[in-house]
Amino acid sequence: MTRDELLDLYRRSGALLEGHFRLTSGLHSPGYLQCALVLQHPQHAEALGRALAERTRGWRPTVVLSPALGGVVIGHEVARALGVRAIFAERQDGALMLRRGFMIGETDRVLVVEDVVTTGGSTRETMEVARAAGALVVGAGAIIDRSGGNPGLDVPFHALATIALPTYQPDACPLCAAGSQAIKPGSRTVSANAAP
Ligand SMILES: [Zn+2]
Repeated sequence: MTRDELLDLYRRSGALLEGHFRLTSGLHSPGYLQCALVLQHPQHAEALGRALAERTRGWRPTVVLSPALGGVVIGHEVARALGVRAIFAERQDGALMLRRGFMIGETDRVLVVEDVVTTGGSTRETMEVARAAGALVVGAGAIIDRSGGNPGLDVPFHALATIALPTYQPDACPLCAAGSQAIKPGSRTVSANAAP
């Protein structure tokens, strides 16, 4: 899957909106990204997982670890393509940890998989979960890199596409300055969710 094919898939699924948006944070942005709208289609999730697996297979992971909730579906699909386990870390009292009896052994080679990497913070936190179990983190992967190509990780990193989506304080938003009105994502039908 090429970057253009991926972005086309995101647009058709309504997972990448372009325009002028007021985000939940209150910031304005010319784009809105919601990976779940692509991943709701199992065949797309499977294809993205296969593409990410092809680029990370060389690191010889024995288990895929994802942060819940955003990383769970894509982590599962990457693991399916690699033929390894898919497990996830989740928050308890604010700290990310393994629950549900999930285990990582000292001989495991852990691949951390997320849907989107923005600051790299949740990826680093997920890597720490694996390292605390004594395992080796062999790399990290994501569908989309929003970090500008530098997520600040100390392991190899691969994303299927890099997307720059700047955010602005409303009073410094160039789109507002140009006279356009910010809308809440999903407040009108920009494109249908029904990707083929
Ligand atoms: Zn604006």
